Amino acid sequence: MKIAVVGTGYVGLVTGTCLAETGNEVICVDINEKKVEMMKAGKLPIYEPGLEQLFHRNIAQDRLKFTSNLAEGIAEAKIIFLALPTPPGGDGAADLSYVLGAAGDIAKIITEYKVIVTKSTVPVGTADKVTAAMQQHAAPGVEYAVVSNPEFLREGVAVEDFMKPDRVVVGTTDERARKLMAELYGPYVRQGNPIIFMDERSSELTKYAANSFLATKISFMNEIANLCELVGADVDMVRRGIGADDRIGKRFLFAGIGYGGSCFPKDVQALAKSAEENQYDFRILNSVMEVNEIQKNVLTEKVKKYYKGDLKGKHFALWGLAFKPETDDIREAPALYIIDSLLAAGATVSAFDPEGMNNVQTLLGDKITYAANQYDALKDADALLIVTEWSLFRTPDFGRIEELLKAKVIFDGRNLYDLDKMIDCGFYYNSIGRKEVK
Ligand code: NAD
Repeated sequence: MKIAVVGTGYVGLVTGTCLAETGNEVICVDINEKKVEMMKAGKLPIYEPGLEQLFHRNIAQDRLKFTSNLAEGIAEAKIIFLALPTPPGGDGAADLSYVLGAAGDIAKIITEYKVIVTKSTVPVGTADKVTAAMQQHAAPGVEYAVVSNPEFLREGVAVEDFMKPDRVVVGTTDERARKLMAELYGPYVRQGNPIIFMDERSSELTKYAANSFLATKISFMNEIANLCELVGADVDMVRRGIGADDRIGKRFLFAGIGYGGSCFPKDVQALAKSAEENQYDFRILNSVMEVNEIQKNVLTEKVKKYYKGDLKGKHFALWGLAFKPETDDIREAPALYIIDSLLAAGATVSAFDPEGMNNVQTLLGDKITYAANQYDALKDADALLIVTEWSLFRTPDFGRIEELLKAKVIFDGRNLYDLDKMIDCGFYYNSIGRKEVK
């Protein structure tokens, strides 16, 4: 099938590449010419495990192409995916200008039946808005279907998630579009995972419900962690104890320093806004957001308490900048909040992250220093702060840490280390929802 993907970011590029991998001919369109030139030159603009091999293979076999020219990109496509940004607007609602703008531009160009698929995360009712934007600009008699197909991939395992999705959700009431979508996704669900067809509104809400539910799990466990610290319990034990119950499940129960990334914060906010616009007080979501705001400061509060409120002249090593491991994405990363508050308190920071350093350097410049490796970050630091749970940080050389740090002090926002091990090594070790090791 001939496919166009408009917007070639984390979602668009993975979608385009993985669709090419099963034999489709894909053209990825992006407004950012520099990015398009980079991809045409065979360079990936993002870090995503497993993507590079597929990217090169499909380019070499002429199934994956790139352009900044929308008309050229969509000319022959039967299905046009919109994988465009939907950032929060000033009031927290999703900004639909990219999606609706592109829909209008596409409508001006098309001359025959096309399926326009919204892959971006968009509020309930957006399919109607996309249809209206298209109606405004399409030539009389030109047919098209507007389909909702939210994306559930996770950065860091995006290729695997796309190639073997738990489920594919498709919202459409157009029979021709339904058949095309079933044909397109068939190869990805051969093991029996479902393509769930539904109406557009249910499909749009499914994505927000999924992300908001996951964010709720995180905030819930963070509250349990905070309580654990007060009552002398261990959140990791509680997690294992409840996770063994099938109704609860083992996954997504890790306490930490709040959810971040480009999706959870904005999607929870957008769903709360949708509820508000419909005069519904979504109490749980409001609490989820409130808890997360507080949790983002938990690690720096521990640091401040340890140094009795005086961080002036202190120097900290930070391990981890990306919002989670296996990505270079730093959007809404907890590290950025931590860096901000450490700098505001008069401290200095030296950081290391395997993939996120370039993006942070673009954002923060020389406000912090960037270490060549995890140990270089420790030189002359008063303490180590662990912010992202990269595998690389899980079994470090504690002897080397001790040699390089000015004091044996670790604040761990990801509970990477065993408490007994920390006692044996003689570190001061403060983690989340567990006993303080002194
Ligand atoms: P992104 O910012 O990485 O990519 C968006 C791309 O669109 C950029 O390359 C940008 O240059 C391009 N663009 C902007 N305007 C354009 C236009 N008019 N024409 C062509 N290209 C244009 O965003 P993303 O992380 O890929 O997210 C895209 C959507 O998918 C969002 O709605 C997001 O909520 C959703 N989503 C993201 C993830 C994720 O893990 N990143 C997962 C599921 C869903």
